[in-house]
Amino acid sequence: MLRQANSQLRRYAIAAGSVLIGLLLSYGLSQLATFDRPFLLFLAAILVSSWYGDRQTGLLSLGLTLGLSGLQIWWPLSWLIFPPLASLSTAVFVLEGVAGSHLIHSLKHQADQAQQKLRVSQGEYNRFLDIANEGVWAIDRHQKTTYVNQRMAEMLGYPVKEMLGRPIADFMDAAGRAAAQPHLINRQQGLREQYDFRWVRQDGSDLWSLMSASPIMSATGQFEGAIAMVTDISDRKQIETELKESEASFRRAVVNAPFPIMIHAEDGEILQISNALTEITGYTFADLPTIQHWVQLAYRDRSQQVRLDISKLFGLAQRVDEGEYKVQIKNGEFRIWEFSSAPLNRLADGRRVVISMASDVTERKQAETALTKRLKQQAAIAQLSQQALIKSDLDNLFDQTTQLLAQSLEIDFVKVSELLPEGDRLRLRAGVGWRAGLIGQATLSANRNSQAGYTLSVKQPVVVQDLRHETRFTGSDLLINHHVISGISVLIEGVAHRPFGVLGVHTTQPRTFTQDDINFVQTVANVLASALERHHNEKKIQQLNVSLEERVSLRTQQLEELNQELQAFTYSVSHDLRAPLRAMQGFSQALLEDNHEQLDSLGKEYVTRIEQAAASLDQLIQDLLTYSRLGRTDICLQPIDLNQIVEEVTQLLAADLQTTQTHLVLKKPFPSVLGSYRILVQVLANLLSNAIKFVAPDVNPVVQVWGESYGDRCRLWISDNGIGIALQHQTRIFSPFERLHGVESYPGTGIGLAIVKRGVERLQGQVGLESQLGQGSRFWLELPLAH
Ligand code: ADP
Repeated sequence: MLRQANSQLRRYAIAAGSVLIGLLLSYGLSQLATFDRPFLLFLAAILVSSWYGDRQTGLLSLGLTLGLSGLQIWWPLSWLIFPPLASLSTAVFVLEGVAGSHLIHSLKHQADQAQQKLRVSQGEYNRFLDIANEGVWAIDRHQKTTYVNQRMAEMLGYPVKEMLGRPIADFMDAAGRAAAQPHLINRQQGLREQYDFRWVRQDGSDLWSLMSASPIMSATGQFEGAIAMVTDISDRKQIETELKESEASFRRAVVNAPFPIMIHAEDGEILQISNALTEITGYTFADLPTIQHWVQLAYRDRSQQVRLDISKLFGLAQRVDEGEYKVQIKNGEFRIWEFSSAPLNRLADGRRVVISMASDVTERKQAETALTKRLKQQAAIAQLSQQALIKSDLDNLFDQTTQLLAQSLEIDFVKVSELLPEGDRLRLRAGVGWRAGLIGQATLSANRNSQAGYTLSVKQPVVVQDLRHETRFTGSDLLINHHVISGISVLIEGVAHRPFGVLGVHTTQPRTFTQDDINFVQTVANVLASALERHHNEKKIQQLNVSLEERVSLRTQQLEELNQELQAFTYSVSHDLRAPLRAMQGFSQALLEDNHEQLDSLGKEYVTRIEQAAASLDQLIQDLLTYSRLGRTDICLQPIDLNQIVEEVTQLLAADLQTTQTHLVLKKPFPSVLGSYRILVQVLANLLSNAIKFVAPDVNPVVQVWGESYGDRCRLWISDNGIGIALQHQTRIFSPFERLHGVESYPGTGIGLAIVKRGVERLQGQVGLESQLGQGSRFWLELPLAH
């Protein structure tokens, strides 16, 4: 109700006010002589009333106007020149007023509705901007903020209110202000633009943003301000910065890597090289803009092939070891590099990139090559030494030596030059590489003008770097004609302090020889020298052998003659010497038997003594003959059954055994041995007869015989209970004529044990004894067992 009353009151006020203003204006204008249409002002008042009020307000104004026209005859309203109330004009006026009220009212209604809609859409737009995820920032022509949305304010850390009205320069630092200047100029010139820009947040930190800025221009093309969409790209910038930093540190790592590195793109551009690459090769980054430059410098005539290898790297998915490459560096030397390459991320422009790393293995390779060379040379020396030992043909050995040297040193020419007996020239005795027909024929001077002659005089290895510039000698025609440039020559020692000659190796290309090479050639020369010495000695031995054989055959002949003489002597001893003895024995016997009566007891004793002496001498002669025969006869060893030997000996000595009442113990069976039946009977008989002979008076001999086998030998023991033998005599009793007792106590010749020793030794056996004085004796024979 109250609202209705208010609106009614408001209508009256508008209508009254409008009419009053119309009235006042009419009054004012009526002063002007030209103004004669005051009703137009009242029509305007009606229209204004219906615009600001409504249709009823308009009609109310019309009513008020008509009311006023009825009062115009009164003063002070007489100035109103208004048509009479009943006139046609008044009717038209009324119609106009009514129609105008209606028209204005409906126009106002439409305008209100349009404004309402605009307000709604404006509100929605603002809400949309406020909740938008991107910042929105509008400025006027003075760069003052006219609008920021919530997001923009949040991005900078301010409340929206605090930003409004402030110049954008407040949100930048000095660098930002400088950077913003050209963009603002662009805006003023009506240009749209997108660019990265750094703002400063309220807390002082940076806000990196992507600005999409557009100018706001008036209809007449005047710059009114600008509006920008602001996207927070701090994260992206952060990543970009980190990426740049990591790229920079990667680049630093590459540059400072302690080995050669090259980063190159597929179009051949070299993007980076390490300092180590420059240090080793001498090529700077400026020298190597592209792979083409690199391969030309480092690989020269192989550049095409290497280029091809490099181009294949761009198809790689992972690291690959490319192997060894021989790289030529700036000073012309070669280095050996082991390459491995791996793909990197593509460049921003899409080019594929490869990182190639190398390790310089030159020194290792050189050491390996030197080792291989040394091993090869050692093998050659070993082979040559062997040849030198087995080969007696010197020319053959020289040929082998020169070939081996040529192979081992990979050299063009090798020569053995022999000093001729006159000493003034050397002859090309053997060699490799020389023109046909020269070996064995060509000679060269032995004076200091040739390399070989110079070597003979200085007696140590001579190395020639370049014969063309040699100052020590001019060089022989042989070397000059063969275009020799470098070489080594060493002395080959001969026999009897005279050099044999010179061993030389030569090349037609300049070559630097190592100490190993020189040692190798000298060692080969030494091997040759020892072969020469051996050859010389062999010759000497051969000559000695010939003369020795002559001497041996002479001596053999002399020995044979002597032997024959000895045999004749033995024959004469055994026959001629024993014959008178037997005569002495026979006549003594006859004297005792036939002249028994005539002889007194002294005479009989003398005759008996003569007989005994003769018998004893005969025994001695027999023993000596046996002993001497043992030394001369050839003995053929054969298996002998010792049982048979023992059996035969006991039979031989049966009478003595019985006379002496010997208790003989034979521990059978006895083994078989290798020996001679006759000698073994002799040996055992001698030992057994001694065993029963050398016993104390009144003691019955007890003799034991037994055998012992061990391994492939056998010992035959003969023990007695006799008088024993003192230790100090145990060796000498085996010598001829060594007796420990007089013939009165124990008869004998002193040759029995000598026969035992010589007999056993002839059978490749040994003899010995164990005894103590008064304790009996144990003699032993050791012989090989028969199998
Ligand atoms: P002979 O028996 O003729 O004297 P041998 O050469 O047989 O000569 O012996 C040398 C010496 O060795 C003997 O004279 C004796 O003194 C000593 N002899 C040898 N066999 C024995 C033994 N079985 N017991 C003690 N002495 C011995």
